[in-house]
Amino acid sequence: MAIVCKFGGTSAKDGQTLERVVDNIILADERRKVVVVSAQAGITDKLIKAGSQQYSNDGNPEDLLINVMEEYNRSASHFNLGDNFLKLHFDAMHRALANRVDGIQMYLDGVIPYGERFNAEILAAALRSRGANARVYYPEDIGMRTDGKFGGAKLLHDSYKKMEAALKAALSRGEIAVLPGFYGVDAQGRFTILGRGASDITGAHASYAVDAELYENWSDQNGILRAHPNVVEKPESIGNLTYREARELAISGANILHQDTLIPLISKGIRLNVRNTFNPSHPGTYIGPTKTPNGHAVEAVAHRTDFAVVYLEKIGIENEVGYTSRVTEMFARHGLSIERSPDDNDSLAFIVPQNKGENMGKIAAVAREIEDAGLVDKISIQYDRGLVCVVGEGMKDTPGVTAKVSGALAAANINIEMIVHGPSQRNITLGFHPDNVANAVRAIYNAYFGNSAGAK
Ligand code: ASP
Repeated sequence: MAIVCKFGGTSAKDGQTLERVVDNIILADERRKVVVVSAQAGITDKLIKAGSQQYSNDGNPEDLLINVMEEYNRSASHFNLGDNFLKLHFDAMHRALANRVDGIQMYLDGVIPYGERFNAEILAAALRSRGANARVYYPEDIGMRTDGKFGGAKLLHDSYKKMEAALKAALSRGEIAVLPGFYGVDAQGRFTILGRGASDITGAHASYAVDAELYENWSDQNGILRAHPNVVEKPESIGNLTYREARELAISGANILHQDTLIPLISKGIRLNVRNTFNPSHPGTYIGPTKTPNGHAVEAVAHRTDFAVVYLEKIGIENEVGYTSRVTEMFARHGLSIERSPDDNDSLAFIVPQNKGENMGKIAAVAREIEDAGLVDKISIQYDRGLVCVVGEGMKDTPGVTAKVSGALAAANINIEMIVHGPSQRNITLGFHPDNVANAVRAIYNAYFGNSAGAK
C-alpha cells in the first residue's frame, strides 16, 4: 500500500522548498511512493498571461517566458542539475506556444501544464540525487484520458485501469512515481487542464488508481482552518472532518482544496490528510467517511463574496404548479448556476455567482426575461452580496445552533439579509451586505471558538 502525496505551488516554489519536501517529507516515510506536484507558485498565472499575449499578438510574452524559465533554472541549479537540464522541456513549451490552434482555451491548455512538467522533472531529479529511484510519469504516458473539455476537463473512468497498471508497475519496481498535476489528455492526445487548482484532483485520481492507504495534500497551512486567516487572526485548524463537511467547506470558500478532490476518494473510502510543508510535525486535518464524535456542533465558518441575489415577488406562487421550474429553466438557459434559492409564500430569491463581473449581463438578461414573461409582480437584483457558511455534522443533533449564530450576529449589530438551513442540517448559509461579511465571520467564529483577540 502506498501514500500518494501532492505538493501545491507554495510547497514547490523554489529549490530550497523542494529540498525540504524531498528530505523532510517524501524520503521521511517510505510509503510515500506516488508524488504529484504543482507548478511553482505564481507560474500558472504567468503562463496564462504569456500565452494570452502570444495568442493575441499583444504585449511582451517573451519577457514573461524568460522569467518563468529563469525561475525553474534557479530551482534546478539548487540541485546542481546543469544549465541545460530543462532545455528540451523549454523547447517543447515554445513549440506549444507556436502552435496557434483555433480557440484560445484549447491553446492555453496546450501551454500552461508546462509549469507542472518542469517542476516534476526537477523534483524527480532531486529525489534521484538522494539515491531514490524516482521517475516522472506524464499523464499522457499513464492513460489519463479526459472528456476533452478545455479549461475544465473531467477524467474518463476508463483511465483508472491504465493508470493503475502503470503506477503499480512503477511501485513494484521500487520507484517513486512523480506526476505533474493539473492536466490529462483528450482522445487526440492534446493537453486538457482539469481546472484551476486541479493538481489536487490529479492526486485524488492517482490515489484511486493505486488504492492508496492515504492521500496527503501538502500545502502551507496546518490543515483546514476554522475560518479564513485573512479574516480571523490565527484561526484554529481542524483535526478531523467527514467527507461531507470537507466538501461543504471546499465549495463554500475554504480555499484549501479543489472542490472536486474528494469525489474519487469517497468512492473508495480513501482518507485525505491536509498537511503543512512548513510544519510537517503538525498532524493537519484528516478527512474520511466518518469521524469520532467530538461534541462540536460547528466545525468551521467559510465565506465567499461576489454573488448577486435575484429577488422575485408574486402573489400566489405557492399555488402555481411548475412556477419554479419555469424560472430556473431561464437561469439554466443563460448558463447561470443557482447557488441557493430561499423562498417564502409569495417570494423567491435566486443567489447566483457574479463570476468577477462575467455573469452581470446574463443576470440582468434573465431578470428581464422573467419580467417580460409576466412571471412576477416585482423583481429586483442586489449585487455584490456575501455568503457565510457555517458547517458541521454535529449541528444536526444540537438544538440552538441557528439561535447562537443569529445571537452572535445581533450582538455585533450585523443584519442578516437571508438565512438557509440546508436540509442535510450540516450547513447554515447566511447572506450579508458585502461590508458585513468579515465581521459576520468573526462574530460567529468567536461565538464558537473563543475570542480571536485582535482579529483582522
Ligand atoms: N498550477 C495550477 C493552478 O495554478 C494547478 C494547481 O496549482 O493545483 O491552477
